[in-house]
Amino acid sequence: MSKPILKTSHISSKLGAEESFVYLARSLELKKKGVDVISFGIGQPDFQPPPHVIEYAKQAMDSGFNGYGPSLGMPELREAVSDFINEEYGVDVKPEEVAITAGAKAAIFIGMLALLEPGDEVIIPDPAYPLYESVARFIGANIIFLRLHRGNNYKIRYEDIERLVTNRTRMIVLNYPENPVGSTMDQRDVEALVDLAYKKNFVIVSDEIYDHFVYEGKHFSTLQTPYWRDVVYYVNGFSKTFGMTGWRLGYVVANRDLISKLSVIANNMYSCPVTFAQIAAAKALQDGLEWFKPILNQYRKRRDLIHRHLGSIKGVHVFKPEGAFYIFPDFTEIIKAKGLKDERELADRLLEEKGVVVLPGTAFSKDAGKGHLRFAFAVREEDIEKGIERIKSWLES
Ligand code: PMP
Repeated sequence: MSKPILKTSHISSKLGAEESFVYLARSLELKKKGVDVISFGIGQPDFQPPPHVIEYAKQAMDSGFNGYGPSLGMPELREAVSDFINEEYGVDVKPEEVAITAGAKAAIFIGMLALLEPGDEVIIPDPAYPLYESVARFIGANIIFLRLHRGNNYKIRYEDIERLVTNRTRMIVLNYPENPVGSTMDQRDVEALVDLAYKKNFVIVSDEIYDHFVYEGKHFSTLQTPYWRDVVYYVNGFSKTFGMTGWRLGYVVANRDLISKLSVIANNMYSCPVTFAQIAAAKALQDGLEWFKPILNQYRKRRDLIHRHLGSIKGVHVFKPEGAFYIFPDFTEIIKAKGLKDERELADRLLEEKGVVVLPGTAFSKDAGKGHLRFAFAVREEDIEKGIERIKSWLES
């Protein structure tokens, strides 16, 4: 046996991996073998960034934006982000209150690292994007789960949070529209929660990365509340709305003192976000989002279609998502009827036997995810139909 020289550290073992990437690797392997895979797996828009934005990136490289930049991001992009948000929400964010990060994921990681101490209580929605829990565990924070229920349209509600707040509460994480359930938050809940955070001295990390994928009504941001500079750490990015997942560009809006402190963490971790990508992103924001309107309509149609098809499977219970591009059906009855062990076995069998990638609900919640699957509907309508047909035929077999 070899010596355990390369044994990994205790601290690194506290991090959990995002399982979407595990399933992405498995589906790529199957594709390589020639299997016709339909993927409802990873949360990635199926459209390319608009051609003019790609052109901007090429031009930025040609004009020499290939070196390091400031850790908090290029001034051009910090300014463009503040202008964009101010226009969108009628607020007055300053460029010094914006930090550009290497993806929204890094924004969440460095924010939680900057704000949480071991033992602090942090309230996290359940089910949720797994990064929040992973980082909280890494830091040694005490996690309190805010269970979301289908009966309440999976909403993050003020009253439910208020019940969980103690004098040790240091942070609450919000994500709306929510991954994996697709719920949104009501304006009154957002407003009441920001007031409560101000009174009780806790931070709100608000991950609003799906703010443009809203199918009913309009997104109400935490930045539209009067006390945001005191309590809010706002996260967004270019991965979803612009289809730029591989460009690794996210951003934070927060109090300028906090923003300046993020610089050291960002500097230690990745030095700076990719410079030519930032120059292109700044121009993309200035051009506005007219091009996105037909995409939103297309995603709404997909939402309606997948909701209808899943709902037509006997034994499946499903909430119609109001935002994001995920749907989180409950397959518990089917799992029992088919004599399967759990949702993981169901996800594995659909992948191996039908080439359909879905994620087990337990990738997003130990308890609330039981019996559930997450489908990302960032796929063509014909593939939604084909994918659900394959699932139906597997269930009947
Ligand atoms: N927040 C949520 C809720 C997400 O679903 C994702 C991506 N799946 C991210 C953050 C990370 O986005 P990025 O690619 O910008 O790191």
